Amino acid sequence: MNKLRLKDIIKTPEVVGIGNSVEVKGWVRSRRGNNFVQFIALNDGSIVTNLQVVADTAKFDEALLKQITTGSCIHVTGKLVESQGKGQTVEVQAETIEVYGSADPEQYPLQKKGHSMEFLREIAHLRPRTNYFGCVLRLRHAMAFAIHKYFNDRGFFYLHTPLITASDAEGAGEMFNVTTFDLNNIPRTEDGQIDYKQDFFGKHTNLTVSGQLEGELGAMALGNIYTFGPTFRAENSNTPRHLAEFWMIEPEMAFYDIKDNMDLAEDFIKYLVQYALDNNMDDLKFLNDMFDKELINRLESVTKVDFVRLGYTEAIDILLQAKKKFEYPVKWGIDLQSEHERYLVENHFKKPVILTDYPKEIKAFYMKQNDDGKTVRAMDVLFPTIGEIIGGSEREADYNKLLNRVHELGMTEEQYWWYFDTRKFGSAPHSGFGLGFERLLLFVTGMTNIRDVIPFPRTPQNAEF
Ligand code: ATP
Ligand code: MN
Repeated sequence: MNKLRLKDIIKTPEVVGIGNSVEVKGWVRSRRGNNFVQFIALNDGSIVTNLQVVADTAKFDEALLKQITTGSCIHVTGKLVESQGKGQTVEVQAETIEVYGSADPEQYPLQKKGHSMEFLREIAHLRPRTNYFGCVLRLRHAMAFAIHKYFNDRGFFYLHTPLITASDAEGAGEMFNVTTFDLNNIPRTEDGQIDYKQDFFGKHTNLTVSGQLEGELGAMALGNIYTFGPTFRAENSNTPRHLAEFWMIEPEMAFYDIKDNMDLAEDFIKYLVQYALDNNMDDLKFLNDMFDKELINRLESVTKVDFVRLGYTEAIDILLQAKKKFEYPVKWGIDLQSEHERYLVENHFKKPVILTDYPKEIKAFYMKQNDDGKTVRAMDVLFPTIGEIIGGSEREADYNKLLNRVHELGMTEEQYWWYFDTRKFGSAPHSGFGLGFERLLLFVTGMTNIRDVIPFPRTPQNAEF
């Protein structure tokens, strides 16, 4: 099988062989020309650059050439030659052209360049054919691959945690119910409550908001694990940084304290950004030139700087002294808003910041309690343009302390009996964090809306495609 992709021809024409016959297939981005010669810009998704196909009008039926419009799909055989024109080094001199599928210019929505991101969201089924989304989707693939490579190279095991759970991982967010009940006829107990015993799993279940709790079970057996899968949050927050369905990477490590955890998080993100710079420069250059002139600079600088490490209490002091007026007022105890996080990163330090030791009230029950009785060993990694990209912590490994915290919060041990078992049997110091995959992609692509870094975004009122 010899399936050439356009990338092979454009990047390594000498390997394909100038003067050789080639066969290419792809979607037409544009056709222009005159009575004698037609130039077709062809793209097959393997690379952002188009391949120029040159067709002598004398060789082809006028009716056939007419079908070669923007969006149509064609199959060309011809000779690979050095290009006469500028803008490309090689082109294909067409000998045969077959139209696989035409695209009526009256109807095909991607006729011209420069559509708004908002418009493209309405045609999410076609937007992968634009240059922007081609770049984003190739980068998305590269980052997913690099994540697996990073962990595999370091002896971490990929653990599949369930998507359907009976636990709310941290009160982390509103959850989607999973049920097979007929919603018009929900079984009730005698006192009028919903009778989940009759539901598919015999109990109330949800889509997971995080794989962490199960991840911890894995770490207490395999040492170092990571999860990488979809998570679901029914939070009705219509922001450029929140999706209802997003992907999360959650490493969990036995014998790591919070310092080890921060070191891993920093090394991990730097590795991923460097991987994109090393392997996806064509896509980054396109996004940099067309969309965000600071993108490549920003990526390079993140790989070089040491992230700031700072306590929450010190961060609050800095924010209190800031001249900037914040929409949400600052005082010790608040959950930091994106505007606060971005002030620290973009205005004050001008580099990524890892914030630690948050008030326990604003963090999850499982985080390791500090001796001050007020703060926990949480760590959030804050990034320019995004705010929080990672949330993590050292976990509370002490059975009694964990139990007290759970009771303080009005929860019961029974709800999490299997989680408590890890603290009963061979408990160990351990840590972990969650990286939002789409937040990473916002940073790596320079896109400003999270809806534009996932093929089919799920947000309130939107699940069309
Ligand atoms: P935020 O405060 O930004 O809403 P969070 O504190 O609720 O985030 P965590 O529960 O710590 O988030 O989740 C870990 C990571 O998952 C976050 O650092 C972020 O990168 C990502 N994340 C969280 N919620 C969403 C969402 N709704 N859409 C996309 N990514 C998200
Ligand atoms: Mn968080």
